[in-house]
Amino acid sequence: MQLTLKSVSYVYNTDAVEPRYAVKDVSLTLNKGEFVGLIGHTGSGKSTLVQFLDGLLKPTSGQVLCDGEDIFEKGYPIRELRKKVGLVFQYPEHQLFESEILKDVCFGPKNMGCSPEEQEARAKKAIALVGLDESYYTKSPFELSGGEKRRVAIAGILAMGPDILVLDEPTAGLDPAGRDEILDQVERLNKEEGIGVVLVSHSMEDVAERTDRILVMSGGVLQYDDTPRNVFRHREELAALGLDVPQVTDICSSLREKGFALPEDILTVAEAKEEILKVLKKS
Ligand code: ADP
Ligand code: MG
Repeated sequence: MQLTLKSVSYVYNTDAVEPRYAVKDVSLTLNKGEFVGLIGHTGSGKSTLVQFLDGLLKPTSGQVLCDGEDIFEKGYPIRELRKKVGLVFQYPEHQLFESEILKDVCFGPKNMGCSPEEQEARAKKAIALVGLDESYYTKSPFELSGGEKRRVAIAGILAMGPDILVLDEPTAGLDPAGRDEILDQVERLNKEEGIGVVLVSHSMEDVAERTDRILVMSGGVLQYDDTPRNVFRHREELAALGLDVPQVTDICSSLREKGFALPEDILTVAEAKEEILKVLKKS
């Protein structure tokens, strides 16, 4: 499945004298199985943008195409699209409401009209996919840690069998352990299950090591759409947008200023280690 945004814009205050663009003239294509990071400062338009992808929000202007078809054309099966594009909102645990986890995860498949057997089979598979075992089936969502609650919420979306999982700030408010737990699971879903991922985050660190491609939003405009390595070459431009480069990239940059011959595009701690060792061996 391929999703394309074609010059999409969005204005919330359409009645105002001066309309303000939450998203302005954004064009991009998401390809099958890609792991894409969507980065930007608070208010840059990330949440607005992702809601176009499953047709929850209709752009004020521009088009949203799924495999070349306009999803807002009359007669387009938008319910089918919503199964294929799984949108996980920010703080999704607020939408857990059943007394038991298995029941909660059955909700999506039930809405899709699956038989009770099929609902349960899908829910069990989805719970396993987020790395929770059978002992969780009858637990209450309220007994879980922050990271676990979020995994259950993600399972609820996975149970619908999406091709693309769109996660709006899935690590917000979690401690570092909970954050890594979620990101590792998401990475596994992408690598092993072939599910496409759009990961919204305001942390460069979250996406630097894992994604194939990074989209950077600023003031509603898509500033960069490139590989992580190429995006992080724009250290100063990113800083001007209020965005950090990963800490390790920053440290290497300071070392370079002090005369260490390190490359400019170091992204991971492992790369940094290798390059620093090379420099030390030469000296
Ligand atoms: P992000 O997710 O990057 O923080 P949003 O897409 O939520 O950005 O917001 C983009 C812009 O649209 C911001 O200026 C925000 O204040 C505005 N906005 C978002 N949601 C609404 C809304 N429901 N009504 C009015 N303005 C909104
Ligand atoms: Mg947001």
